[in-house]
Parts: sequence; C-alpha cells; structure tokens
Amino acid sequence: MVTRKAIASILSDYGDIVIATVCSHSSLQIFHGARQEGFRTLGIAIGKQPRFYDAFPLAKPDEFLIVDSYADILDQAEDLVAKQVVTVPHGSFVEYMGSEVFAKLPIPTFGNREVLKWESDREKQREWLTSAGVPMPMKIERPQDIDRPVFVKYYGAKGGRGSFIAKNHEDFKESIQPGMKYAIQEYVVGTRYYMHYFYSPLASSGYALSRGSLEMLGVDRRDEANIDEMYKLGAQEALRKMGLLPTFVVTGNMPVVLRESLLPKAFEMGEQVVERSMELFGGMIGPFCLETIVTDKLEFKVFEISTRIVAGTNLFIAGSPYSDLTEPGMSTGRRIAREIRIGQKQGRLADILS
Ligand code: AMP
Repeated sequence: MVTRKAIASILSDYGDIVIATVCSHSSLQIFHGARQEGFRTLGIAIGKQPRFYDAFPLAKPDEFLIVDSYADILDQAEDLVAKQVVTVPHGSFVEYMGSEVFAKLPIPTFGNREVLKWESDREKQREWLTSAGVPMPMKIERPQDIDRPVFVKYYGAKGGRGSFIAKNHEDFKESIQPGMKYAIQEYVVGTRYYMHYFYSPLASSGYALSRGSLEMLGVDRRDEANIDEMYKLGAQEALRKMGLLPTFVVTGNMPVVLRESLLPKAFEMGEQVVERSMELFGGMIGPFCLETIVTDKLEFKVFEISTRIVAGTNLFIAGSPYSDLTEPGMSTGRRIAREIRIGQKQGRLADILS
C-alpha cells in the first residue's frame, strides 16, 4: 500500500490539479462534475480512445491516456504525477485493476485507500458493518447448513454476475463455480434501495458527525437481467426445469425515493458506518453506498457496502430529490470535485486524498 506520507509529499508540489479516471462506469459524471468545478480532466482508456464521449461534449475529458491494460496504468504513474493528476476510483477502475494493484498506485487518489481491504473481503465487510450496529442478512456458515432460500455471492464487485439463489445444498452444488471465494446470506424478501451517501471530513455544517458531516445525494434501484423480467415467464421452479436460471447482472438503474419515515434510519446507518470506519481504519471518505432491502416490517437489511461512487449516481447528473435540498444540481461527481476544491483552499488535500 502506498503510504499517506508519500502521497502528502507528492501533493506538496500540486497546484493546478487534473482529475482523472478510467473511461467507464461513472466517468461521464466524474468528468462533467470536475469541469463544473473548474478542473481539467484526463480519461484513461484501455486499448483505444472511446468514441462515445464525442456525443457528450460537456463530459468529454480534455485529454486521454491510452494504455494496453489496467496494469499498465502503474507504469504511467510518474507521468501522471508530473501532470498533477488526482485519480477518482470507481467500481470498474478498482475491480479491473485489482484492489491490490490499485492500493499500490503511487498517484494521489480521492478517498482513503485503507477502506479497500475492509470492503473487498466479505468477512471483514461483515465485521465492519455489524460491529457498527447495522443490520445485515443472516450469514449461513456452510453450504450444508442451507435450510432456507439463500443468496450466494462471490468476492469483489462483479456487477451481480455469478450470484445465485439456492434453496438447499443440492441447488448450491449445481450452481457454485469451483475455486472462487463466496459468501452465503439468507435471501431477504423486500424491496431494494441503493442509498448514495457522501461523507465529508472537511464540512462543518449539515448532518454533523463526530468529525465532518454526512449527506445523502440520491437513491436508486438496479435493473438486473434476467431476474427482474423472469416473472413474466411464470414460476421459478418450472423455469429451472427448463434450464432458465435467474441471474443478477446489472444492466441499468432506476431512480427511487425512500418513504420519508425511513430517512432517520437511513441517516443513522450511514452515520454508524462512517463512525466505525474512523475507529477501524482512519475513516471512509467521500461517496459510498449502502445496498439495502427493506422488508414489509419496514426494517432495513444491508447486504453490501460500496465504498466509492456507484453507477446508480449516474441518474442524478442534474441533481436528485435529495441533493436538490442541499445544493440544486449537485451530482456525486461534482461533489467529489467540490471536496477536492475545498481541500485545496483549506490546505487539507492530504485529509481527503491518499
Ligand atoms: P451483490 O452481488 O451483493 O451486489 O448482489 C447482487 C444482487 O443480488 C442485488 O442487487 C440484489 O438484487 C440481490 N441480493 C444480494 N444479496 C441479497 C440478499 N441477501 N437477499 C436477497 N437478494 C439479495
């Protein structure tokens, strides 16, 4: 892991910051937000320069760096630092580069990289969330113990790919991919809400925590193929006999709002997770998402945390029903750039970059 001291020393030479990210996931929003806050931008593309940015001039990076593979970004670190680049991680950036390589990238990066080892290991993630007091779906220790519908998922963000439902040990054996690390949770029946928070250690107003403050920038629900549409074909058992197994590959996102009476609990959970992160590893910084299911008893179960910008925030490039009540038109991408701008003005970049 690159040390915070090394990053702080790089930052001491930074003035005119360039915001960079990999050209995928939420890059349009990140570049657009950076530009709104007056930053120059750089898009890192794998293989060749993507054409789709030409269709979105307000979100097209000022320049591109083309590399052959994610691993090659590491070789470019010196040049990127010379350009005064700050990278903004997103799910694809970290997953495709590999969280271990990403942790070593000697370029200032938005957020606290210590969070990676708490997020990427599902055991540690559970330890963090449950010790924070956040309710999670029950964990099933061994496949032989499956005595109810369960949800099986692999380690790392895979956009839902590979996850499956099992009702017993037989189902499990049928679907499990050998050699992959997995976790088994009870299958929670309810409605899904993916809540987009932003924790600022620099802010002093708003929903105050022991240090800094917490914002809610939006909520989405993911469209998942083919589970979301399979009901149209009839009962799951019959489908299974036909060889049609439900899959959870994310294909898009829908905006949602929470029932207002759930907001106090949503903030309480966000607060608990941030406060605990300060005790465990010096604090998670910036955007994060609690992925939840709300049951008909109006109880939240948090089945996962994403500790960076999630793609569901792409819905809210022009603001959301929540962010409009803090600052109209504020996207998560822009909020990241704003935080960097504030950090620069306050001489506190080392508190928000690592
Ligand atoms: P994940 O791989 O954790 O991001 O989960 C992918 C999808 O699986 C989610 O978006 C939900 O649709 C579903 N899911 C995950 N965990 C559970 C659970 N414990 N109970 C029910 N559905 C779940």
